[in-house]
Amino acid sequence: MNGRCLCGSVRYRFEGAPKVAVNCHCSQCRRHSGASFLTYVAVAREAFCLEAGELVAYRSSETAVRSHCATCGSPLTFVFTSDPETVWVTAGTLDEPDACPPTENWFTQDRLAWTSLDPNLTCWSAAPPED
Ligand SMILES: [Zn+2]
Ligand SMILES: [Zn+2]
Repeated sequence: MNGRCLCGSVRYRFEGAPKVAVNCHCSQCRRHSGASFLTYVAVAREAFCLEAGELVAYRSSETAVRSHCATCGSPLTFVFTSDPETVWVTAGTLDEPDACPPTENWFTQDRLAWTSLDPNLTCWSAAPPED
């Protein structure tokens, strides 16, 4: 699958299907994206390949590093410090986001009242327990 930022200076691809796709309703994802929630697909680092441009890293908390495009600001990735081998890629930057529909909602305790939740998705009040 291929994806890019808004201006196109950052392009990436990954091989195979994502491990999971998740809507995150936490307040940090809300501020990072400027949207009511942010959808990610989880990809093994070894399957993720940056094809053009650079990711600008931003440590948003002790537990995670986010990245964006230096030119247009599109949010691109999220990586947990505790799991550096998984890259969470923003689904909205995929060329074919319909191919990776989310199956879970995370941090529903923080969701905006005017954001409706799909009852078919698994909901977690915060992040799900780690394996
Ligand atoms: Zn850009
Ligand atoms: Zn979040």
